[in-house]
Amino acid sequence: MSRKIRIRKGRMAIFLLVIATLAAAISMNVYFYIINQPTELREAVSEVEGIPVITDFIPVETKERPGQKRRIQYIVIHETGNPGRNADAASHNNYLHEEAENQQKSWHYTVDANEIYYHIPDNEIAFHAGDGLDKDGGNVRGIGIEMCINPENDFEQTLINTAKLTAMLLTAYDLEIDSVKKHEDFSGKHCPDLLLSTGRWDEFVGMVRLELKTE
Ligand SMILES: [Zn+2]
Repeated sequence: MSRKIRIRKGRMAIFLLVIATLAAAISMNVYFYIINQPTELREAVSEVEGIPVITDFIPVETKERPGQKRRIQYIVIHETGNPGRNADAASHNNYLHEEAENQQKSWHYTVDANEIYYHIPDNEIAFHAGDGLDKDGGNVRGIGIEMCINPENDFEQTLINTAKLTAMLLTAYDLEIDSVKKHEDFSGKHCPDLLLSTGRWDEFVGMVRLELKTE
């Protein structure tokens, strides 16, 4: 091989390497750009299969609702852990409104046997998963749903209502069933407590799956 050809081949190899590196860098940037684009907000609904949904957003730019948009990746299931009388969805909505400026603790929906309260737009972060601002965590990427456990509330009906809401959200945001997570998956807190203590988590996920089929 002549020296000239060898030099030309060497230059060609360097040129191809530069092109490949650039292409990789650009596609990584495009990928990160896409996964960090906020999800477009679905229009608020007034009911989910006959269950009333009351939209009553917490004021924006408060501690509970900073208003930061994000891409939605998870539906994070919780229980309120509040066994007080009348600790239903409406009373949790009041609580969130009263405490908006005082606490960095918030979530998107509260569900009881009769109705659903919608507190924070789906495509904004809230503080329910106990993992701060972890960029791929439950707060930043999840929609938080609290199920009421107060004694006069029908918990079985609350589970059905939550499964219907969860299925509706999965469909609205084009997510798969494995996007349904427990609070425990993000911070290790034993939540949703009743479902976990009674070994019913898989049953709940099955209920959501069934709702997806019948939608
Ligand atoms: Zn929780």
